[in-house]
Amino acid sequence: MSNPAPFGQRPPALRVLDASVPATPILAGRVLLHEHSRFIPRQRNSIDSDLGGVVMTGDNAETRAFKLRTEAGFTGTMLIDSAPYTTHTATENEPFLLPQDQMFATLDDTLGFQKAAGASAALTPTGYIAPGASKPLKAVIRAAQRIERVDTVVTVPVDVTWLSNERVGQLIAACERINQPKALVLVGQFDPLQHAKVIPANLRRVISEVEGMMLLRTDLAALDAMVHGALCAGIGVTSSVRHSVAPGERAKVSKPNGPVYPSILMPELMCFKGAESLANRYANAEPATCPCEVCNGRGLDRFYKTDSETRVDAEDHNILIWSTWVGEMAGYEVGPKRKIWWQEKCAAAINRYPLENQRIGLSAKRGFQPPPPLSAWATLPAS
Ligand SMILES: [Zn+2]
Repeated sequence: MSNPAPFGQRPPALRVLDASVPATPILAGRVLLHEHSRFIPRQRNSIDSDLGGVVMTGDNAETRAFKLRTEAGFTGTMLIDSAPYTTHTATENEPFLLPQDQMFATLDDTLGFQKAAGASAALTPTGYIAPGASKPLKAVIRAAQRIERVDTVVTVPVDVTWLSNERVGQLIAACERINQPKALVLVGQFDPLQHAKVIPANLRRVISEVEGMMLLRTDLAALDAMVHGALCAGIGVTSSVRHSVAPGERAKVSKPNGPVYPSILMPELMCFKGAESLANRYANAEPATCPCEVCNGRGLDRFYKTDSETRVDAEDHNILIWSTWVGEMAGYEVGPKRKIWWQEKCAAAINRYPLENQRIGLSAKRGFQPPPPLSAWATLPAS
């Protein structure tokens, strides 16, 4: 592979981990950044090498991941999620999407390609598991039971209705029959956790009752999962990688034809807010400020722009903020103290909403409102 290294420097050799290196210890305790491959891969200083890592996703994710390793020199933990669940619905005969352009491509080849591109562990190319699609889910279990490699995580991209009271027991039973680590991806428009009131609690059940669960392509639900015993989790860098939509659907956005502004993680309020809505809310008041390395005390209303520098700054701010929380969390062992820390942290954020609205002179209706999942994490029993 030719590589135009600048100034004659050789890129660091790519260390490929073979199929005998188990996935579990590599991933344990980490919250990964789910990155979109459409942008030039770059090393982010904001990623914590002990507690973080990257999931590269989107078109040509393997090529981008390889470049992140060889050109940008990234040596941390990395997964490659080519997101087959966005185009392929799992069926009884084809639970996994194997490459169409290569004759006789096997699952083993697909997993091996990811490792050759620099992945620390491999993800199965599982299709989207539609509402109530029990037979395709069983086919995923059977296919997983035939995998002999220990470097593999079984991706379980389920429609969010699998977290309803009627279905969650079946999902738990299915995940328990898969011996490998399992990466749950929730598929649904907007925030899947807001589809029904029971979802945050039922998601916790799946994570806490099944060993080796991961939750990928999500938002702060990643922390709730890690607090309740997940092996690993992944937070999306933009809203499009903080959930997924079913094959054939387009992600609905509140303003379909408008420019795309960054979404900003509010350190005190513990929620992501669009830059436009922040600029509006802080139009006649002092904005909330942020002490992170990127913001350096500046206001959080400054991201209302569409240029790439602003986007990267916003992303790095977000990563620094949630990485700080992951670092705090790692100070508590998995168990009651960690759960109480998280519950109190979410409750404290909820309590700041009326204070912030009062400070900027907005009513509860026109000001900030806590997202329902945050309220659930603050009030659900910690045990
Ligand atoms: Zn900041």
